[in-house]
Amino acid sequence: MTAKIISGTETAKAIREELKKEIAELKEKHNVVPGLVTILVGEDPASQSYVSAKNKTAHALGIHSEQVTLAADTSEQELLGLIDKYNRDNKINGILVQLPLPKHIDEAKVLYAIDPEKDVDGFHPVNVGKMVLGEQCYLPCTPHGILELLTRSGVNTSGAEVVVIGRSNIVGKPISNLMLQKRAGGNATVTICHTRTKDMAAHTKRADIIIAAVGVPKMVTADMVKDGVVIIDVGVNRIGKTADGKAILAGDVDYDAVKEKASAITPVPGGVGPMTITMLMKNTLQAARQAAGLK
Ligand code: NAP
Repeated sequence: MTAKIISGTETAKAIREELKKEIAELKEKHNVVPGLVTILVGEDPASQSYVSAKNKTAHALGIHSEQVTLAADTSEQELLGLIDKYNRDNKINGILVQLPLPKHIDEAKVLYAIDPEKDVDGFHPVNVGKMVLGEQCYLPCTPHGILELLTRSGVNTSGAEVVVIGRSNIVGKPISNLMLQKRAGGNATVTICHTRTKDMAAHTKRADIIIAAVGVPKMVTADMVKDGVVIIDVGVNRIGKTADGKAILAGDVDYDAVKEKASAITPVPGGVGPMTITMLMKNTLQAARQAAGLK
């Protein structure tokens, strides 16, 4: 069996077209332009490229976007002051602080300082709590993107055995929670694996859907999966550089071998990555609608 490729690039493109129309309509009918600010502290090249992709996408969709880059030695107090300023800025509906932050800044303190109404990354405990309760909230972007990929590719999650590898706050824990919720795109039986899991292959071999969010290149091998499995590979691992200096990326799944057994698989790059940015735009639009009192 050779797997169907679940293209995040194509799915994201389709969703961005929908968003672009909705954003234009919002401006035309209500004179509302969604606003997003991205805040980057330091000069980490991967973070710089993520932030610039977010601003570029926002701009292309008609979202007002501001990009703030702060020196690596910016104090926590200074950053909190900036967040406070944007919390009170009516032009800005979404505030994104690019992670990771330099070690001298308390990440939790910064994320908690963002107004939950502007927390378009969905990391504030108010939004995390609402997500767990199944209430209306900003869903964290990567898990939200995974849900969209699964539903738009027609993958039936109801009753499926889902194995999530990784238990981070930004991917593993939220996607596990979303997949077990009692609603369309959920209703799965979820197992979560991590570094203390005794026999990972015993779990992955019985999975109908595997979601790998680990950060270890090609960790999920063909002998660990059953025929017909659906694979969502979240991992983005830089495994080298091309002659012209571009990063060579690999996922957490041994793509070439596993695609011969899987029924569907996401590639890296071009899988989950483009969906994460797209869901950030969707959340920013939702924030603008809410701020304007429109559902
Ligand atoms: P993270 O915070 O480092 O968490 C990694 C998780 O994987 C941890 O729970 C860890 O277990 C587990 N793990 C690590 N090595 C393992 C092993 N050998 N066996 C079993 N479990 C292992 O990472 P993250 O932020 O969730 O990101 C995971 C990957 O996804 C990274 O490659 C990241 O770049 C990528 N990512 C991509 C996107 C996107 O948009 N495409 C978004 C976010 C992240 P313990 O908890 O026991 O330590």
